[in-house]
Amino acid sequence: MNVVQADQSCEHCHGKGVRLSILKNNLKADVCGCFKCELCNNEGRLFREDEQGRSFMADCECQTLRKRVNMLTEAGLPGKYVRATLETYQPMNNTQKVALSRTKDFLSDFKNRPMDFMGSLIYMGNPGTGKTHLCVGVVKHLVMKLGIPCKFVDFFHLLSDIRQGYSEEKAEKSIIEPFVESRVLVIDELGKGKKGEWALDMLDQFISARYNAGNKVTLYTTNYKSELPKRKKSKMGNTTFVNTADGEYQKSYEKETLGEVVGERIFSRLSENSQFLELEGDDFRKIMMGRTS
Ligand SMILES: [Zn+2]
Ligand SMILES: [Zn+2]
Repeated sequence: MNVVQADQSCEHCHGKGVRLSILKNNLKADVCGCFKCELCNNEGRLFREDEQGRSFMADCECQTLRKRVNMLTEAGLPGKYVRATLETYQPMNNTQKVALSRTKDFLSDFKNRPMDFMGSLIYMGNPGTGKTHLCVGVVKHLVMKLGIPCKFVDFFHLLSDIRQGYSEEKAEKSIIEPFVESRVLVIDELGKGKKGEWALDMLDQFISARYNAGNKVTLYTTNYKSELPKRKKSKMGNTTFVNTADGEYQKSYEKETLGEVVGERIFSRLSENSQFLELEGDDFRKIMMGRTS
């Protein structure tokens, strides 16, 4: 955007004109205080002339920035990913490199491909491998560079909001609609929490509605994998898992696959139009100590 006149030396936005902060655990975006639009003097509107030379009020070009900034706040990104972008993602191994490069391909195809060929991305792997970081990077890119509305939701939280809504007699529809209808949606932590019939039924409805709409793109993160780590005989003759980071085998995502958790029907729908990206690695939230993943 050529009208952006932000201060290159600004410590908040470094000349980007956008300031990110955290409000109630969510990421909040604002136009930075250093931003000055020379066309409209920060009014957001200005006089233009039509073909007959009559002047009329119109939105200034800088409104594009203002709209995208609002859209980014409304995406509902978790505040701890305030600094996460695809540029700040540091792959620790080949699987993470592949995930990053597939994510970039996905973005560069976004404008050019017909929506029904877009499909979805499913980021699978242990906590801390950067799945959510990559999804947040996608949302920031789509909103700020392309102006495409996106939403981010932790499915487990969404379910508890719906439950809460029942007790306040809020219609389930009004809670889930913004997420069902968003052109791009990130469903974080697919499969987390109790897997009762009701939860699976909600998930099924949710995925079906987006799938049937035909023009929706969904990104999922999940700790579950499409297959379990290979088993091998140990010297003691017992069957053990290999390829796991910390030797703890009690976690449910190491005992069940995504298909087992969400059920055949949902899994086959997911498989139909999704790319599965498996990220291996240790929990680098622990390794990086205090840095957001
Ligand atoms: Zn600034
Ligand atoms: Zn302006």
